[in-house]
Amino acid sequence: MTQEPSKRTAVYAGSFDPITMGHVDVLQKGARVFDRIVLLVAENSQKKCLFSAEKRRTLAMESIKSLNLPCEVEVDVYSGLLADYCKSKNISFLLRGLRAISDYENEMQAATMNRKLLAGLETFLVMADETHFFLSSSLVKEVAEHGAPLDGLVPTPVAKAFQAMHL
Ligand code: ADP
Repeated sequence: MTQEPSKRTAVYAGSFDPITMGHVDVLQKGARVFDRIVLLVAENSQKKCLFSAEKRRTLAMESIKSLNLPCEVEVDVYSGLLADYCKSKNISFLLRGLRAISDYENEMQAATMNRKLLAGLETFLVMADETHFFLSSSLVKEVAEHGAPLDGLVPTPVAKAFQAMHL
């Protein structure tokens, strides 16, 4: 049997293109349960992102800094299989957020596959807050593109990044 690490660590993986208040909410909920959360920015060549992986990592780090979360949070970037990352770091838990019904099928598929790839790798899903139920990075990008205010949708560093892009 593999030894559980002393700190209960979860990986919260996603595109975070960019991090939104919905992601922040999942982090805050997860921080009440886990001792340590690794926010893992996925670098996926198949998926076209607005922000580079490095920028997504920086924005996540800056956004988390002021949160005063009751657990340790690290931000990392990874381009391989999530199960391989977890295996290499001896991490057994994944944290994900669940919004609309459409998330459910994807999350079920991903959780099942991850458990198949690495026995004991369990996914913990937290329900989106009702204020963020329809909030997604894609929607935020669309709103920003049309110059509408992003108040309450994204952390300040992200709002500033959009301003700097004149989006
Ligand atoms: P991916 O491309 O892997 O879905 P995302 O960055 O879009 O990456 O999302 C990462 C995780 O955060 C997913 O589990 C997603 O369901 C969750 N999430 C995204 N937005 C919200 C939100 N508004 N409320 C709760 N969970 C969310």
